[in-house]
Amino acid sequence: MIKVGVLGGGASGMAAAVAASRNDADVTILERLDRVGKKLLATGNGRCNYTNESIDINRYYSSNRDMLEECLNNITGKSTIGFFRELGIEPFFDETGKVFPYSLQASSILEVLREEYLRYGTKEICGQRILTITPTQQSFLVHTDVDTFEFDRIIVALGGKAYDKLGSDGSGFNLMAGLGYDLSDIYPALVKLKSDFVHLRSLKGMKINASVTLYDNDDPIAQDFGEVLFANYGVSGPPVLQLSGIAVSELNEGKNVKILMDLFPDISSNDMFEMLSARFISLKHKALKDTFVGLINKRIIIPLLKEAGVDDFLQKPTRLNRRQIYAIIKVLKGLEVRITGFHSWADAQVTAGGVLLTGINPHTMESYHHKNLFLAGEILDVYGDCGGFNLHWAWNTGIKAGYHSSIGS
Ligand SMILES: Cc1cc2nc3c(=O)[nH]c(=O)nc-3n(C[C@H](O)[C@H](O)[C@H](O)COP(=O)(O)OP(=O)(O)OC[C@H]3O[C@@H](n4cnc5c(N)ncnc54)[C@H](O)[C@@H]3O)c2cc1C
Repeated sequence: MIKVGVLGGGASGMAAAVAASRNDADVTILERLDRVGKKLLATGNGRCNYTNESIDINRYYSSNRDMLEECLNNITGKSTIGFFRELGIEPFFDETGKVFPYSLQASSILEVLREEYLRYGTKEICGQRILTITPTQQSFLVHTDVDTFEFDRIIVALGGKAYDKLGSDGSGFNLMAGLGYDLSDIYPALVKLKSDFVHLRSLKGMKINASVTLYDNDDPIAQDFGEVLFANYGVSGPPVLQLSGIAVSELNEGKNVKILMDLFPDISSNDMFEMLSARFISLKHKALKDTFVGLINKRIIIPLLKEAGVDDFLQKPTRLNRRQIYAIIKVLKGLEVRITGFHSWADAQVTAGGVLLTGINPHTMESYHHKNLFLAGEILDVYGDCGGFNLHWAWNTGIKAGYHSSIGS
């Protein structure tokens, strides 16, 4: 029987254990926390958005897109749904294509994975931190803070550096660098962004729907749509998290980063002018600020007027001239928020960057540097958008590594 050591009991490690144990390997999972799958329980706000109906390579980021494409070749949302259906998980699809277990409990996913590999005899050894990996001629010695283990083959599934209280703390990157692997720069992604926007205090806690465009100086570089959340530190919410990886990378390069929020993406500026002008006439008995009630969130009316340089909020709306109306429209369709920084690793959902894909065979996840060493999950130089893309990557690279590490056992 081939002895397979799965290093890390997170999403990719557990999927690898299922695949390897089904192939009759003698599998042991080593995990530093007191139990496996802790992060999994927190995913999707406790509901685990485990894949997406529309897996698309363009929703992933890596310094090597060709290799990334090969890794995910022919692996669709359907394959992941099929893998979990076999374990008893019925899919629930939300309107955006995210896929959850029908129970809407992340614990269901954890339970069925564990049940499956435990029934094939996989051992879980928790509460031991892996300190070094020593390749020998025939095997790998894995030294933890408690013990030393010997395996014929290992799957390194130690995760990234994000959200360390639930497991991965970047130690996998140090271990791989120590073994001579090349890594790209790592930085937090799917993370809240800091801003010095002057109205943050008054807008704190407010959510607005907007089309959000990320700019490097005056060049638009990425766009997303959804609910933006204002906080005293800056902004978050799905579209901001989605754009955050690119924003962090730009900030790290010393670029000037800002986002522009279009509160009316479906209406052109000229149509908006017609609409506002008509509204100001029909509501001419009201103070200017009150004419926006029912059109935009009340809390943002004064900040928007201030941004547009209109300081007399109580004036009659019909007193505004064309230039002032267009100034208001410019803000409604492009509220500018300068991005000055980002939250820490402890608060980020994923890691951008990692072990370069050029070091592994994308068809088997086996290392080109060490025969019988496989890699899977977030430790690799790949991350995806919110929406189930990161777990999809973790499961499928884990399954591939688990399967190929156990062939011949
Ligand atoms: C709050 C939150 C919510 C998320 N929600 C979603 C979601 O809904 N959908 C989605 O697709 N993605 C989501 N993600 C991202 C997703 O959880 C990760 O991309 C995925 O878990 C990565 O899997 P992994 O196995 O590579 O790493 P991990 O799940 O991080 O597992 C790595 C494991 O290795 C262990 N480990 C690390 N170092 C050592 C060491 N030195 N010795 C021993 N053990 C070690 C860790 O304790 C950990 O258990 C979320 C992330 C967070 C933080």
